[in-house]
Amino acid sequence: MRITVIGCGYLGAVHAACMTELGHDVVGIDVDEAKIAGLAAAAPPFFEPGLPELLERTLATGRLRFTTDMGEAYGSDVHFIAVGTPQQPGQLAADLRYVHAAVTALAPQLRPGDVVAGKSTVPVGTARSIAERLATEAPGALVAWNPEFLREGFAIDDTLHPDRLVYGVPAEPDEAERVTAVLDEVYATPAAEGTPVVVTGLETAELVKSAANAFLATKISFINAMAEVCEAAGADVTQLADAIGHDPRIGRRFLNAGLGFGGGCLPKDIRAFMARAGELGADQALTFLREVDQINMRRRARAIDLVRDELGGSVLGRRIAVLGLAFKPDSDDVRDSPALNVAAQLSLQGAAVLCHDPRAIEGARHRFPELTYVDTIDEAVRDADAVLVLTEWRDYRDLDPTWLAAQVAQPVVVDGRNCLDADAWRAAGWRYRALGRPREARVPALA
Ligand code: NAD
Repeated sequence: MRITVIGCGYLGAVHAACMTELGHDVVGIDVDEAKIAGLAAAAPPFFEPGLPELLERTLATGRLRFTTDMGEAYGSDVHFIAVGTPQQPGQLAADLRYVHAAVTALAPQLRPGDVVAGKSTVPVGTARSIAERLATEAPGALVAWNPEFLREGFAIDDTLHPDRLVYGVPAEPDEAERVTAVLDEVYATPAAEGTPVVVTGLETAELVKSAANAFLATKISFINAMAEVCEAAGADVTQLADAIGHDPRIGRRFLNAGLGFGGGCLPKDIRAFMARAGELGADQALTFLREVDQINMRRRARAIDLVRDELGGSVLGRRIAVLGLAFKPDSDDVRDSPALNVAAQLSLQGAAVLCHDPRAIEGARHRFPELTYVDTIDEAVRDADAVLVLTEWRDYRDLDPTWLAAQVAQPVVVDGRNCLDADAWRAAGWRYRALGRPREARVPALA
């Protein structure tokens, strides 16, 4: 098939390369000239494991091109919309201006029967409003919503081997049939591997994505709420999570207490979901998401409390090593990153903060130029009064606490992700603090 992907960020660039890998002929379009130049040279301006290699391979086939010229969309059978939908400044709702700008630019290139397939995460009702617009701006073009569930860090595998495909299709049976057939052809390879395909109406498909993110955010905030209670009661949330996670109805995944969620999706998506529910008159249904958001934000403050507590009540003038800035490991994404937020707050409270991250320094420097960034873990920890591990990169999980203890001014560690071996660190002489765990080990770890 000939495919357009509009918006070549974390989602769109991966989607374009993966669609080429599946055998299609793909044009990736973005308004950002530098991004397009980088992608065309197999040098994406963001980190996603395996993406440079995949781009190199797929560009070499001659079936993948990147351009800023929307005219190149003409002739594609399906046009994926993968532009950003950030939070509106000062509001909870999503900013749809990029989606609408993309549709405006695309409309003159559409032929009757072309499928415009949204992948961006949008408030329910967006697809229908696009379909209404296109009915006059591009008669005969069809709108589908095909939400994306990829995880940064695993984006290629998640796109080539998704755990499900959701097609939101128009209500009119002929149109639904055409859209389903086109998407079936796009995803013939994963479908042949047995990937379940769920065909729904447009609104349900949009809501599937919002609901999935709301559930994941709630699961994380649930265990972080348990962490708060554990802190008050002197219990250990990691043991609690292991124990409740053995129940298959609960499951252990996404039950890691710590600094909470961040990134370019979950925070803004749950807020946009609340805002949209309000517009629809269903705001009561989602008031719990406000609590989910608040629990999440409280964890950042609590991490800072732990540092202050260990440093005698103030961080003023203290030297603090922050290990990890990305919102999660294997990503350079610092959008709404809890780690970066904690680093910035400590700096504002007068600490000398030395920040390290294997991939995210450039993005972090762009957002918070006033922080100090160093290239090696050694530089970050040298003579530190406290070491904070805020993103669970393998480099940090594998640190040797005995070696590290010899580098710092005092052996204080705050494990913001519950990713270190507390017993090993304590045995190496560290004062180990973590969210949701007692100051001292009180009970033996579960076998
Ligand atoms: P991003 O900011 O990395 O990329 C968005 C891209 O769209 C940018 O390159 C921007 O230049 C481009 N763009 C903006 N306006 C344009 C226009 N009019 N025409 C062409 N290009 C335009 O964002 P992202 O992380 O890739 O997310 C994109 C969408 O996918 C969002 O709705 C997001 O919620 C959703 N999503 C993201 C992920 C993820 O892990 N990043 C996962 C699932 C869904």
